[in-house]
Amino acid sequence: MSSVIDITHYLDDRGLPVFVGSAGRLSRFFGNIVAAASLLPVEGTVVSAVRCGTRPGHKRCEGSIHIYRRYDGVIEWTCPECDDEGFVYNWEATYWDKSRYYDSNLGFDAVTLIVSRAEYDTLAGLDTLSEEGEAILHAATTVDEGIELAAAPGAFDDLVGYIAFEANHESNHRSEQLLGKLCERIEMLLEFNEIAQGFYD
Ligand SMILES: [Zn+2]
Repeated sequence: MSSVIDITHYLDDRGLPVFVGSAGRLSRFFGNIVAAASLLPVEGTVVSAVRCGTRPGHKRCEGSIHIYRRYDGVIEWTCPECDDEGFVYNWEATYWDKSRYYDSNLGFDAVTLIVSRAEYDTLAGLDTLSEEGEAILHAATTVDEGIELAAAPGAFDDLVGYIAFEANHESNHRSEQLLGKLCERIEMLLEFNEIAQGFYD
């Protein structure tokens, strides 16, 4: 199935995403594609962290959506697992346009962290992250080992503060542990990075 989507059809009168019912599900899906594409350079492609989620034969497709940001602004996406594909346009300057965070994510000093799918989904489900932190998740890529997050050390430092807050207020023990371990790994990553930087100074 191929679709051509004007993303503003999935925003309400105030420009915020609709979030209920099947329109809400599609709003999240297309919105996540737009956010990922907006953090790509023009003509950039990515194997994103966006899950396909179509249900061919009643089984949820687990494919990772491939995204291409065309020179004319149109976003092309495709799922290599089920061959679902589509185009999204009219997304610039909407709620889902996260291009203002491009520099903090992909600066020359970016460091990377691989997380598991479960860790990524837990992070994406948190609702107190900063916009900058959310942009790190939107720009994530699918790699063989899991999901790769890339951002400037300062952006990771910001993210870890929010995750620590969530870990402290998490009532679910498993999520609390998962978030706590993630904090430790991000802090270790930042520490190693600082040591490595020290060699060059
Ligand atoms: Zn699929």
